[in-house]
Amino acid sequence: MGLSSQAILCMQWDEAKSALKQRIMDMERQADLNSCPNFRVPDTHKYRPLPMTYLSQLEIYKFRKSFTLARCEAFTSMVLEARFNSIPREQRLCPCGSDEIESIEHMMFRCSRHKKIRAKYITPLLKDMAGQSDSDYCNQLLLDYSWTTTKLVAKSRAACHSIDS
Ligand SMILES: [Zn+2]
Repeated sequence: MGLSSQAILCMQWDEAKSALKQRIMDMERQADLNSCPNFRVPDTHKYRPLPMTYLSQLEIYKFRKSFTLARCEAFTSMVLEARFNSIPREQRLCPCGSDEIESIEHMMFRCSRHKKIRAKYITPLLKDMAGQSDSDYCNQLLLDYSWTTTKLVAKSRAACHSIDS
């Protein structure tokens, strides 16, 4: 666990127990983060085992659910469906006919099915983020750094979900 026996022997019983417990918790936390590499966690929450702010601020269930699914990339899409059907990634195309993979970036920034929703909720948020990649935009919109951003993104995802289902 990265602690030398000499270092442990120099500690009192309770101190050693506490240090080992903390080390085990750190390792489990790291294993959790590694097992879900697509889950977006801002730097402020990386080492803090507390719920994200949006979980309490987004009081309306459909907004909270839509935002969570987007953050986890677990929303209904060809990408999700294909994970369970062994369809190669390059064949997980969006039904909009663009020949693009139905990723979160495609849905938020390019999909023709969500054009009006994007114009209403997402485009205004991108004005201050010019010149970045879609992946960077996506991370910033889903990291829950700003309540205004989180609220608008959650509303857009819920609106998209109602179109898709
Ligand atoms: Zn599309």
